[in-house]
Amino acid sequence: MKHRLTLDYALGRGVLAPYLDALIEGVALAGHCPHCGRTSFPPERRCRCTQGGGDDTAPGWVRLTGQAHILFRTDGLAGSFALAQFDGADNQTVCRIANPPGNGSEARLVASDDGKPGIVVEITGETIETTE
Ligand SMILES: [Zn+2]
Repeated sequence: MKHRLTLDYALGRGVLAPYLDALIEGVALAGHCPHCGRTSFPPERRCRCTQGGGDDTAPGWVRLTGQAHILFRTDGLAGSFALAQFDGADNQTVCRIANPPGNGSEARLVASDDGKPGIVVEITGETIETTE
């Protein structure tokens, strides 16, 4: 059974505008909680330390190096994707791999190739060890 789903809508950028603009340029701009120091990339609208009530102070921004470690990877007809941990971030994120033939556990954020914000990485080195 095959279905095609087309969505046509516009999303407001809101408080994430600095993060989204940076992504287009290939810059990793992370959210930084002024209360507990947690750094999140992608940024979290509200830090864990304030969820459930209390202070709703907007996060500050901190620029990361853009270097990331690939934790898991999957390759398919729709592209190659990975779960990555960016250096300096306390959370992990899913990203698209720009150079699928690259086989390594280290990567860096690159500018999106379509002018739209997206977390796109390029594999830079150190072959992932596999057991066969
Ligand atoms: Zn916090």
